[in-house]
Amino acid sequence: MNPIEHRIELRDVTKRFGDFTAIAPLDLQVIQGEFIALLGPAGAGKTTILRIIAGLEKPTSGTIHLDGFDVTSMPAPRRDVAMAFESPALYPHLTVERNLALPMRAQHIPRNAIERRVSEVIDRLRLGPVRRRKPWRLSTSECRRVSLGRAMVRDAKCVLFDEPLVHFDGEEREHMRRELRAIHAELRATTVLSTRDPLDAISTADRIVVVNQGRVLQSDTPQAIYDRPADLFVARYLGAQAMSFLSASHADGIARLTCCNLAIPVDDRGAQPVDAARITLGIRPEHVRIDPRGVPATAVVTNSTPNGVVDLRLGDVPIRASAQPGRQLQNGEIVPIRLDSAGCRWFDATSGKALPWRTRTEST
Ligand code: ATP
Repeated sequence: MNPIEHRIELRDVTKRFGDFTAIAPLDLQVIQGEFIALLGPAGAGKTTILRIIAGLEKPTSGTIHLDGFDVTSMPAPRRDVAMAFESPALYPHLTVERNLALPMRAQHIPRNAIERRVSEVIDRLRLGPVRRRKPWRLSTSECRRVSLGRAMVRDAKCVLFDEPLVHFDGEEREHMRRELRAIHAELRATTVLSTRDPLDAISTADRIVVVNQGRVLQSDTPQAIYDRPADLFVARYLGAQAMSFLSASHADGIARLTCCNLAIPVDDRGAQPVDAARITLGIRPEHVRIDPRGVPATAVVTNSTPNGVVDLRLGDVPIRASAQPGRQLQNGEIVPIRLDSAGCRWFDATSGKALPWRTRTEST
């Protein structure tokens, strides 16, 4: 099959509501069978993007293509796009089974094929005990699952999930993430999911598109975004807990941390910061190690620190390091730490953009 078929493409799409620009010029491509997550905070524009793909919202400018065809003026029912909304709209007079069967009935699929498919979806979404109930007798989580099921049962070319996991917690949320992934692996429908939760995105999607203020900030595999965030917003959004940020200045191939005067040699070829006195080092705990050759830091022992890491202060700046197995730190204890050059990420603090610099050797 031609890889261009069945894909979703937004070209130069904008959306304004009155004077307010919800979507700045935005390009997005989803290839056949791909599963992408639109990840961003409240108001980023995720739902608007999904509604534009589904045909429920008209873009102010730009075009939408499905399977290579311009569908910008095509009404929603003709687009063959299934969408599960954040607030499920179920038919109140129909049972769970019949709510699930309805989208396939509309496609004139044979009755036994409908029954088989509905049973599969009921098993996957753990809806067996409530299959003959009507929506008013369902919990919020059960309603959400029926709504997801309705998007999954019909053999649509594209499936859009708007914040599908927002009402699930704990083990149930993990189960739903696994199921979304498993169903996608089975059906291979081109899928777009929106979420505010980085973990939802990381654990379900092949590719994450980070959006904020109607713009795409970065689009890449979860691993690539985790390893090389495009800017400080993405770095903070994908694990605010995980990456520590330290202010620094830069001159003659040396970055100097403000908090402790530590000099870190950098290969500073490529983009330069707007202001050399304002750069930021981002580093994750796995790259900050307790090591006798390091610089002194002070342990801050709290009950909220996750396992496997320790909270420290370098000068007056918090920094999270890998815990040393078997070593229990006391509050206020001074420990030496070293920063792995491979884990140092440099950002221009003025623009927030990542700098393409490499850190030459371990800090000394
Ligand atoms: P959330 O995670 O809260 O659902 P989102 O990323 O899905 O947020 P959107 O719902 O797409 O964001 O909204 C993007 C921006 O557009 C928001 O500021 C919102 O208030 C605005 N907006 C969306 N729909 C309309 C509308 N019909 N009229 C006016 N403004 C709107």
